[in-house]
Amino acid sequence: MEKVISTPGKTREILQKFNLQPNKALGQNFLIDNNILNKIIKAGEVTKKDHVIEIGPGIGSLTQRLAEMAGKVTVIEKDRRLIPVLKEILHMYDNINYIEDDVLKVDWSKIIGPGEKIKVIANLPYYITTPIIMGLLENCLPVDIMVFMVQKEVAERMVAEPGGKDYGALSIAVQFYSKAEIVAIVPPTVFIPRPKVNSAIIKLTRLEKPAVDVLSEEIFFKVVKASFQQRRKTLGNSLSRSSELPLSKVEIKEALKVAGIDPSLRGEKLRIEDFGRLSDEIYQRIQ
Ligand code: SAM
Repeated sequence: MEKVISTPGKTREILQKFNLQPNKALGQNFLIDNNILNKIIKAGEVTKKDHVIEIGPGIGSLTQRLAEMAGKVTVIEKDRRLIPVLKEILHMYDNINYIEDDVLKVDWSKIIGPGEKIKVIANLPYYITTPIIMGLLENCLPVDIMVFMVQKEVAERMVAEPGGKDYGALSIAVQFYSKAEIVAIVPPTVFIPRPKVNSAIIKLTRLEKPAVDVLSEEIFFKVVKASFQQRRKTLGNSLSRSSELPLSKVEIKEALKVAGIDPSLRGEKLRIEDFGRLSDEIYQRIQ
């Protein structure tokens, strides 16, 4: 194996050699711990059959390990300084496809071949964790496993159950499409530079079909969003005040009643199945 990038010494050497200052605005915190990389790779169940997409390769510590374990790796990096650096450091691997782009704007049809399944594995830039994950889930990409390093609080929101303060629109969206598990909690000391927050590795295994059958996914997500927009308000109030749901207070009350949901509850009490029933009732009344 080539000298691993994921050590403090090698990471500093690369930053110095290429005269790179980590860019805070792009969420650059480079992984310097092999044990953490092992956990990420194990959670991703990476084999030579896999095409793995890595978002934000940085200076390549995770990319190097992926190139060794997977059949093909596509990296998507926004920082223009880094692609030439990666190509030089990782020149000995011929299974890496480099894309210089913003992951939120990338054309997936150019990356994923017809009929191909992919895995997405990444130490994410924390400032755009939610749009990245929601984009991957909502775009119906052919992804079976996703493993991400994210801020610990965000991982906790993704796996949260009804009733607690962490439970919200993100928990429901993630759990609608996937099974979510926290694999490990990760301290700031395994990154250069150290982030101010704790991190977590989260594994999302895509469900074959969404967790609940709904008449309209669009209305389901509008109902979820409206229910959590003002967390302290009751469902009756938040849903009838939502500009996205064109129903009167009486109609909303009726929909809640038929779905068997008390209008004086708050959104945080509802399970994903409850939101499913409610959104179907609302959908039918909008038609
Ligand atoms: N994978 C590397 C590692 O583990 O050491 C770096 C991870 S660092 C937390 C996040 C990476 O995402 C940085 O390389 C950053 O430049 C990149 N990045 C930030 N915003 C991005 C975007 N919109 N699209 C693609 N990459 C982005």
